[in-house]
Amino acid sequence: MDPIRMVDLKKQYDFLEEEVTLAMREVLDSTVFINGPMVQAFQKDLEQYLNVKHVIPCANGTDALQIALMGLKLEPGDEVITADFTFAATVEVISLLKLKPVLVDVDPQTFNIDPKAIEKAITPKTKAIIPVHLFGQAAAMEEILSMAKKHKLFVIEDNAQGIGADYTFSDGTQAKTGTLGDVSATSFFPSKNLGAYGDGGAIFTNDDDLAHFIRGIVNHGMYQRYHHDVVGVNSRLDALQAAVLKVKLQYLDFYNERRKEAALRYTDLLKDHPKLITPFRDGACNSHVFHQYTLRVLDGNREGLAQALQAKNIPYGIYYPIPLHQQKAYEDPSTDTHAFPVTNQLVKDVISLPMHSELSVAQIEYICSEVCTFLDQC
Ligand SMILES: *Cc1c(COP(=O)(O)O)cnc(C)c1O
Repeated sequence: MDPIRMVDLKKQYDFLEEEVTLAMREVLDSTVFINGPMVQAFQKDLEQYLNVKHVIPCANGTDALQIALMGLKLEPGDEVITADFTFAATVEVISLLKLKPVLVDVDPQTFNIDPKAIEKAITPKTKAIIPVHLFGQAAAMEEILSMAKKHKLFVIEDNAQGIGADYTFSDGTQAKTGTLGDVSATSFFPSKNLGAYGDGGAIFTNDDDLAHFIRGIVNHGMYQRYHHDVVGVNSRLDALQAAVLKVKLQYLDFYNERRKEAALRYTDLLKDHPKLITPFRDGACNSHVFHQYTLRVLDGNREGLAQALQAKNIPYGIYYPIPLHQQKAYEDPSTDTHAFPVTNQLVKDVISLPMHSELSVAQIEYICSEVCTFLDQC
C-alpha cells in the first residue's frame, strides 16, 4: 500500500503531468505571465462551469473575500455576521476593513453557520452575512437568503471549501454554491478541491455593476489606465496558475465524485461505532464535496485517537482547534463564550481523516481499522 497523505497532490500530478506541462509551456512561450489569454480562458471556463456571469480571478482566497467585501462599499463599524467555526481568513478580512465581525454559533450536524443564531445576531448595524460552505457542505442558503432579503443584508459566500457543490432549493431549482449570494469568494490553494500549484483565488458574482467595480479594485482601483478612481489592491492570478487550473477544472466533477465515494466508504465502515459521529449529509437540499472528511470523536477520545493515528503514519487534521471568538486577534471582552456551545464542543471533538481523489479502498480500510482498533481499546 502506498504511503497515506492528507492530500495526495503527487499522485494527482502524475496523472496530469502531460496536460499540465503543455498548458504551462503555452504560457512560458507566450511570456504573458500576468492576465492575458490563459487567465481569460480559465475565467471563461469557470464561468461556464458554475453558470455565473462573472468570475474575477485574484491572488488568493483571502484576497477574494476582502475584495468581495470592498466591492459592497460597507462603512467602518458596519456589522458582518459569520461563523465562529471556520478558517480565520473569513473573519480576518472583516477586521482588516474596520468592519465589525459578529461571530455566531454553528449547527451541530453540518458544522455550518446556524440560521437561528444569525437571526438573533441581526441589529440595525448589520450589513452582511458570510456563510462558509464548511468542509465542502453547503450552508443553509435558502434560510440565509430569505433572512438577508427580509433585513436587506448582503450575502457573501465563502466558497473556498465548497467549489463544485450543488445546492437545491425546496422548489427543486439547483445552482452551484458560490452563485447563490450577492458575491462569493473561493481559493485555489493547492489542497483545495480545485487547487493550483501555488496561490490563487477568485470572486464570483451575477451582478454586472459589482463585477465592473471589483475588476477595478483588483487592479489598483483603475478603470482606465493610470486613472485611479478608488483605493484598490494588487491581486492577480498568475497565468501559470491559470494554466494548471484550466486543466484541473476539467476534472473537478470527477475529483469531487471520487471524494464522495471515499467519504461513503469511510462512513460505511465507521458509522456504527458508538464513539464516533460520521459527517451528516443534508441530502435533501444540497450536495457535499468533502473538502474534509470530519468525524466527531466522543467522550474525550480525540487526542488519543490523533496520537494512535500518528503512531501508524496516518495523517490527520484538526480543523479547527480554537473557536474564533477565543483567538487573541478576535477576542472581544463583551463576548460571552456560553453563546457558542456547539463550536466550543466541536473544537474538542473533531478530527479530519485523509481525504482526496486518489485514496484507495485499501488505504481507507486500513485507516478505519486503525481508528476502530484504538477506540475499542479506550
Ligand atoms: C482556504 C480558505 C480561505 C483562504 O484561502 P487562501 O487562498 O488560503 O487565502 C478562506 N476561507 C476558507 C473557509 C478557507 O478554507
